[in-house]
Amino acid sequence: MTNIENVHPGEINKFGSMAERWWDTQGEFKTLHDINPLRLEFIQRFVQLEDQRIVDVGCGGGILTEALARQGADAMGIDLSEDLIDVADLHGLESGIAVHYQKISAEELASQQPQSFDHVTCMEMLEHVPDPGSIINACATLVKPGGMVFFSTLNRKPKAYLLAIFAAEHVLNMLPKGTHDYKTFIKPSELCQSARTCGLALQGMVGIEYNPFNKHFSLSKDIDVNYIAAFKREA
Ligand code: SAH
Repeated sequence: MTNIENVHPGEINKFGSMAERWWDTQGEFKTLHDINPLRLEFIQRFVQLEDQRIVDVGCGGGILTEALARQGADAMGIDLSEDLIDVADLHGLESGIAVHYQKISAEELASQQPQSFDHVTCMEMLEHVPDPGSIINACATLVKPGGMVFFSTLNRKPKAYLLAIFAAEHVLNMLPKGTHDYKTFIKPSELCQSARTCGLALQGMVGIEYNPFNKHFSLSKDIDVNYIAAFKREA
């Protein structure tokens, strides 16, 4: 099942080239920093994190991975960008947070360590790979039966093009230009369908909404743009 080719090298280089600015809370990745507490809040609606073994797939510089570890999780982060793994490692050392990072694909880790993690997170990553279904399948393999898998991504709706690409990249400069490609966005129905075929049952889904007037993000019922979903691995 291992599919080590499930990667767009350009995507890895794109994110890797901005690695040293990953932890600048006012820099290119400000949005990830801003939405991180909301992601954590959503995850904690479903699971307690203390002493739970969790893998964060496509962890980047470790923004969520560190937050999980701060809540007491035994957290591991994986990504295919060497530069980002280095940044994540270094930041963990500076913060005194014990997180293990590894440059390995989700599919490869799944073949090495099936059913080894209490829970799995995979945020803002599915829209950057050629075959998101293969990542979903790997996450379903990594988690223990009864464990939870969390995905967030962008909805393939015109409103998402307008807000996540046109407004965020070109008008408000919230994201670097070229961060996202509308074609790769994933409808919630597609995510759920793909998850279901891997034994993942939907438990909840919320949108992450941006208010341009007060510049705040919040969890919302509106899943038209950015959304986050929780699935339970069936036994
Ligand atoms: N999940 C992090 C980072 C999101 S940015 C967060 O939300 O804070 C997207 C990340 O996906 C980048 O770090 C990029 O290197 C990674 N990525 C892209 N394709 C990948 C692949 N095939 N395997 C693993 N990571 C990948």
